[in-house]
Amino acid sequence: MKIIGEPHAMQGLAEELRGQGRKIALVPTMGCLHEGHLSLMREGKKRADTLVVSVFVNPTQFGPQEDLGAYPRDFEQDKSFMQEVGVDWVFCPTDKGMYPDGYQTYLTVEEVTQNLCGRSRPTHFRGVATVVTKLFHIVKPHFALFGKKDFQQLVVIRRMVEDLNLDIEIVGCPIVREPDGLAMSSRNKYLSPDERKEALALRKALDRARDLYRNGERSAQVLVDEAHRILGLHPCIRADYVSLCDTGTLTDVETIEGETVMAIAAFAGNTRLIDNCVLTDLGKEGI
Ligand code: AMP
Repeated sequence: MKIIGEPHAMQGLAEELRGQGRKIALVPTMGCLHEGHLSLMREGKKRADTLVVSVFVNPTQFGPQEDLGAYPRDFEQDKSFMQEVGVDWVFCPTDKGMYPDGYQTYLTVEEVTQNLCGRSRPTHFRGVATVVTKLFHIVKPHFALFGKKDFQQLVVIRRMVEDLNLDIEIVGCPIVREPDGLAMSSRNKYLSPDERKEALALRKALDRARDLYRNGERSAQVLVDEAHRILGLHPCIRADYVSLCDTGTLTDVETIEGETVMAIAAFAGNTRLIDNCVLTDLGKEGI
């Protein structure tokens, strides 16, 4: 496994690999890796013969009041995880390398960034779309892998790739959970023992909504109210949103008809957590 920090050097390497006819898979991460990230890497290895993982805590996707400074970083542990999985190249640029003085270009994806996390994090997806586009131009991947845990992010990236005619296959990977059901997240490290226990409320609320759905309930409001009721039973938890949206447009639905995602964001103490589950007409869901 080799480590590369300079965008130009990475670009040169990508060009060379492509020249040799190699297929490149990219897994973009912000580090502090866990099994969720590693599952993306394993999938990348299956699809391509060179696996590049980027480790970059992207400042432009954090709002001014958010946790950029405190975001957990552990590059030594990240390296040993990546070595185990068989990552070929780690791309870990500096902030200045990605956003040199005078930087002023940002990418905006419109409708699909308006709802859900876009409401409470109005500049987040502009930062995500910008950095992912830059990573795509630097690493030149044939495949890029993203987790369904960040469901809206995946929809935004797919939209952007289609709209900009980017010749990259976007692969969405299932949510990896702790044994008790909590979706893995680098931010789980922030949780106190009490918050960690109560963080399961998100999963419980999704489970309950899914059960109602399986029993024939199709009113979004009924599912949303029930999810809020469950979150409300947990004193450490404060809901940001509970929404049922069309999986393509991410607009709220009133009645569950086509493929619908139930998405939750909630604070456990000061830590903002997200989780989701896809409800389908067949009663199969992505949880
Ligand atoms: P992050 O480092 O949080 O920016 O995440 C990097 C990638 O890992 C994103 O595509 C996330 O959706 C994905 N990811 C994070 N947590 C999980 C999880 N629990 N299961 C699957 N993918 C995940």
